[in-house]
Amino acid sequence: ERAARIAEWKGPAQTKDGYRVQLLANVQDGNSAQQAAQTEAEGIGLFRTELCFLSSTEEPSVDEQAAVYSKVLEAFPESKVVVRSLDAGSDKPVPFASMADEMNPALGVRGLRIARGQVELLTRQLDAIAKASEELGRGDDAPTWVMAPMVATAYEAKWFADMCRERGLIAGAMIEVPAASLMADKIMPHLDFVSIGTNDLTQYTMAADRMSPELAYLTDPWQPAVLRLIKHTCDEGARFNTPVGVCGEAAADPLLATVLTGLGVNSLSAASTALAAVGAKLSEVTLETCKKAAEAALDAEGATEARDAVRAVIDAAV
Ligand code: PEP
Ligand code: MG
Repeated sequence: ERAARIAEWKGPAQTKDGYRVQLLANVQDGNSAQQAAQTEAEGIGLFRTELCFLSSTEEPSVDEQAAVYSKVLEAFPESKVVVRSLDAGSDKPVPFASMADEMNPALGVRGLRIARGQVELLTRQLDAIAKASEELGRGDDAPTWVMAPMVATAYEAKWFADMCRERGLIAGAMIEVPAASLMADKIMPHLDFVSIGTNDLTQYTMAADRMSPELAYLTDPWQPAVLRLIKHTCDEGARFNTPVGVCGEAAADPLLATVLTGLGVNSLSAASTALAAVGAKLSEVTLETCKKAAEAALDAEGATEARDAVRAVIDAAV
C-alpha cells in the first residue's frame, strides 16, 4: 500500500493541509540531472561540482567548465538550480585542487578554504557558471543559485557573496559547520539563501568521522544536537527572511522530512530516486503534526528516542 502511494505520488510537494515544501534533486553531472528531470523534482538543490573533476589532474578551462555546467543547467531550463562551488578535499580529493597529506583532512583546507589561498580557482569557476547561465538565457524566472561549502564565518560568507554578485549570481552558503549555524544571524544578512548539509553538520557536531562505520550511531542526523542546530538555523532564516534548505542525506528520510518541515525548512534536496517517498509522506501529515514531530525530536534524549517519538506522533495523527 505504501509502495503504491509512493508510485502514484505527484508533486509539487505539500502537507495534507497545503503547506508547500520544495523538493529538489542532488546531482553530480548532466546524466544525473537528466534523470532527475524525469522525476517530480522541482529543480536542483545541490549540484556537487567537485564530483565532475575527481580524476582531473589539471584545472579545466573556463570554457571547459562552462560546458560541463551547461549540461546540468539544461536539464532544468526553467527551474531553480543550486550549483555548489568546488568542495574539494577531505573525502572528495580533486587532483588539481586538493591539499596533500594533511593530518586531519576533514578539518583541513577543504571547500571554500582552498579558495582563500587560490582565489582564481574560485573566480574561474564562478565565471564558468555565469557563462553557462548566460548562454542558456537563465534569468529571474530560472535563477542560477551558487553556494559555498564549508563556510565557517560571516567574513567568508560576505567574501563569497561579493564575488557571486559581481557575476549576477544568487549567493548562498552551506550550513555544515556548527559555527555557521551558531552565527547564522551574522552570516544570513550577507546571503540570499542557505542550505544545511546534514552530513557534515552531523560529523562536526558529533565529532565523529562520517566515513567510520563504527561511529554510525553518532553520525546520525536524528541526533537531537544536530536537530537543535537545524532549528536555530531555521529560526534565524525566518527572522532574516532567508530561505533555508536541507541538502544532506537527512532530506531523503521521509520520517525526518516531517521533522525538518516542522522546524521550518523551505526546501529538501536529495537523490531524485528518494523524492517520491518524501513527497508521499508529507502529503499524509499536516503542518501542525510536523511541528509536533519536531518538538518531540528536539526534546528526545538521543537519536533512537527521537525516531521513536516522531514515529509515535505521526502514527497517532494519520
Ligand atoms: C553535506 O555535507 O551534508 C552535503 C550535502 O555535502 P557533501 O555530502 O557533499 O559533503
Ligand atoms: Mg558537506
